[in-house]
Amino acid sequence: MRVEKTMTETLTRLPHIDYFKQTAGKIMKQEMKAPVILSLDISNFKYFNQMYGYDAGDKLIERCVCRYCHMNSDCVLAGRVYVDHIIMLIEMGHRDVNDLEIEYDTLNRQFGDEVNQEFPLARVRMYMGAYVVEDLDDDINNMIDKAQYARRSIKTDYSKTIAMFTTDMAMRASQQASVLPMFFSALESGRIKVYIQPKFSIDEQKLIGGEALSRIVDADGNIVSPSVYIDMLENTGLISRLDNYVIMKVIELQKEWMNNGYELTTISMNLSKMDFWKTGFIRRIDDAIRMSGVPAKYFEFELTETIFCENLTEITRQIDFLRERGYKISMDDFGSGYNSLYMLGKIPVDIIKFDRGFVLNSLSVDSGRKIMKNLMNTFKDIQFEVICEGIESREEERIVHECGCNAVQGYLHDKPLPYEVFEDKYMKTRSCEPHSARSCCNC
Ligand code: C2E
Ligand code: MG
Ligand code: MG
Repeated sequence: MRVEKTMTETLTRLPHIDYFKQTAGKIMKQEMKAPVILSLDISNFKYFNQMYGYDAGDKLIERCVCRYCHMNSDCVLAGRVYVDHIIMLIEMGHRDVNDLEIEYDTLNRQFGDEVNQEFPLARVRMYMGAYVVEDLDDDINNMIDKAQYARRSIKTDYSKTIAMFTTDMAMRASQQASVLPMFFSALESGRIKVYIQPKFSIDEQKLIGGEALSRIVDADGNIVSPSVYIDMLENTGLISRLDNYVIMKVIELQKEWMNNGYELTTISMNLSKMDFWKTGFIRRIDDAIRMSGVPAKYFEFELTETIFCENLTEITRQIDFLRERGYKISMDDFGSGYNSLYMLGKIPVDIIKFDRGFVLNSLSVDSGRKIMKNLMNTFKDIQFEVICEGIESREEERIVHECGCNAVQGYLHDKPLPYEVFEDKYMKTRSCEPHSARSCCNC
């Protein structure tokens, strides 16, 4: 990699990112065969620093830059965006995209393994996004955005270390740019739909609850999936307005079902970190539920472990309040990230929801099944309930059952259904007559 010395940072000997942006376009046009922009990140770098100190962190960055940039003959130019995030311009040459993906996947895994062997407590992971430049006249910022977009798409998908920017992603990116106007307009005109996905007991093959999930209907009537809007709403704090909408709708439905004399079932709702920082949010939910007259046991709140990354004490206080009131709390997406076991000791929850990714990993190898079985036994020992998410086949259901799980949610039983469909299919058949509606739902 060539670069004038005066333009480089001292730690990494990489050019400043501004220099990268000024020069990359020119270099691509003048002398490159199939230029590619790579965005590389070290996940868990923050923990690495905390556990091994900042000097070791600096050395890791140096080592990474050396391997990926200085010693890499593909690398034409590179720059550091922030601490552990590097942008590179590489040449694909005559290779095809698949070859490139395999080569860099191998490099990421080898480098990650080396580091983890030496520093086993931090579990770093090298992961990257790649954009094969199509239009050399495009703005360099757009090109970098595309590589970063691809990288972020696998941030929590631990089975991958590299993602190529695809046309599908281009479509999603443009959808995301229109998320906020779409959200506000949907909120105003009631085009946010609540879907409910049933949860089943394996032994009895019977409904044991449901999870409320949102969908936005855009102005043309298309159903927009949460993967398009949740991140953006979380980043802007607007997620609380969505959560509030979904929760109020669930309260209204439960009340209606109770008044209709249906035997109620517990419906869970997703909460976000923001909800705990909005003054009075949790109390207002509790007030609304109490006003509805529907017993608290028919409401459950799902939280992901990332909620607990900051200010554990304050969040724990609010969760304790919810549990005291009789609501169930579940830990969502268990096993989709690191630190789960460590966090679990500190968090007051009732139910652990195993993520589909964890289930799949556990099913593919014998040792995975053993781990799952032991984990489930331990959880049940300490009075946690367990449920597996994303169960798509009888075989998957059979295996998680063998591991000790008796509750599942997944396409095998049903996809998330518009609430009216859920009502027709599941609630109407659960009438408790001849009791009166109110005494019925307390049964
Ligand atoms: P989640 O809470 O973990 O919800 C489960 C997701 O898994 C749902 O995706 C569901 O459709 C999907 N799923 C269910 N069964 C299967 C299966 O058998 N196979 C596979 N591959 N997937 C399955 P969905 O509805 O797209 O929601 C994605 C995420 O968006 C949810 O994950 C939740 O974290 C978030 N979300 C959705 N609605 C809301 C909301 O109103 N508020 C908040 N805060 N988050 C929401
Ligand atoms: Mg959930
Ligand atoms: Mg989940």
